[in-house]
Amino acid sequence: MSVSPTEEELKDALVTLKHQNPSLGISKIYALLLRTYPNWTVSEKRTRKILQNEGLVLSSTSIKRSTIVYPSSRVIPQLDVTQWTNKVEVTFYDQQKGKGLIATSDIEEGEVIWKEDPFIIAPEWDLFDLQLKSTACAYCTTPLVDSPIAGSPIPCPASISSAFCPARFCNRLCLSRSAKTHPLLCPAQNPASVPLMKWTKDRQWMALHALAQCMSRILLASQKDEATLRADWEVMRGLAALGMEERFNYSFKSTGNAEPDRSSWKKAHQLCVQAFKEPKTVPEKKKLARLLKKPLPADVERELFEYDPCFLRNLGSMSLNLEGHGGLYTLHSHLNHSCRPNASVRHLDQRTALSRITIVAKRPIKKGEELLISYVNPELRYETRQSELQGWGFGSCRCQRCLEEEKQAKEKPEVPVPSGMEDLESELKAGLGVM
Ligand SMILES: [Zn+2]
Ligand SMILES: [Zn+2]
Ligand SMILES: [Zn+2]
Repeated sequence: MSVSPTEEELKDALVTLKHQNPSLGISKIYALLLRTYPNWTVSEKRTRKILQNEGLVLSSTSIKRSTIVYPSSRVIPQLDVTQWTNKVEVTFYDQQKGKGLIATSDIEEGEVIWKEDPFIIAPEWDLFDLQLKSTACAYCTTPLVDSPIAGSPIPCPASISSAFCPARFCNRLCLSRSAKTHPLLCPAQNPASVPLMKWTKDRQWMALHALAQCMSRILLASQKDEATLRADWEVMRGLAALGMEERFNYSFKSTGNAEPDRSSWKKAHQLCVQAFKEPKTVPEKKKLARLLKKPLPADVERELFEYDPCFLRNLGSMSLNLEGHGGLYTLHSHLNHSCRPNASVRHLDQRTALSRITIVAKRPIKKGEELLISYVNPELRYETRQSELQGWGFGSCRCQRCLEEEKQAKEKPEVPVPSGMEDLESELKAGLGVM
């Protein structure tokens, strides 16, 4: 008797088959599915849709334009946008453009659209140095001051003289929020993470630091309950992704860079495994086991620790999604790019929560309009903007301004650099000038 599998059953089956046979295209995966599950009734169309939604295959449009690889992107199921704002909603365009944010009502110029704390933060190195010197909050990155009003910062409770942790926090709130990531990166609680964090810092590899923070968050969420784990896991899976190999093949080559540093990727992976899964010494193993008592679900385990493609894709997705100061923000990561943005990202709460971002309207935005920020410095010339965006793996920009400037360039080769662009500094910071 034939049955129609549920969406979830079909998705799991396809993810597994594609994973075991990464080189097979849609029709071959479909044939394999029918052989593996002979009693299932499934259409090829349904198979294709799931494979595309899961980012397992490229959509037909990007296959035709095979020189351009676009980041895959998926909507986060059950994401409650109203926890940040009721002024926007999430929309899914297509596999090539991915998702975006649409205004649900008219927004005035200068209006705050939402404020958001980071999912994780891998701060800029000068701030990270302050954290290591115990002079910036290890959670929100705000520089710490001893003041009678604010009270004294709180040191990491796990720190002892034989196992020192430099983390200090603004207050009890920052300390309690840090429980989502800090324990696994704390030299006192998980000494196996020390080589990873040291190497990351020596290489100033922000994407790896961000991934270490994400892995900590997921692993610690898995110790709470299924709902917490799945909610955090969906945020991570929802990030636009492009594997390191894909990024290299498309963008690094086109920007003239040399070989990808595969040995560094490998080393990064080894250090993550050592930090979060298989510490080298028995005392380190014991300490890690104290933090991770429950095993990870098999799918999460594979996605976090399997080197190729999972780990490499996760690493690639960090670079694509980090905000300029190194934070990864759930709702902010939905914002698409335009060289003529209508919104900008600011760090307005500098003295209370430096890592909190505020999204501000740069001009009036009509209901139904997409919210757009600039990933690159908008003062740059057309060609430079294009090559920077492509260098990050975003494909070529087809925004209104680029189309206009492309047309002008064809008519008369010298395009003057537009003047009067305000917010240069913040736009630069909001961009993706992070590796
Ligand atoms: Zn703080
Ligand atoms: Zn600590
Ligand atoms: Zn553009």
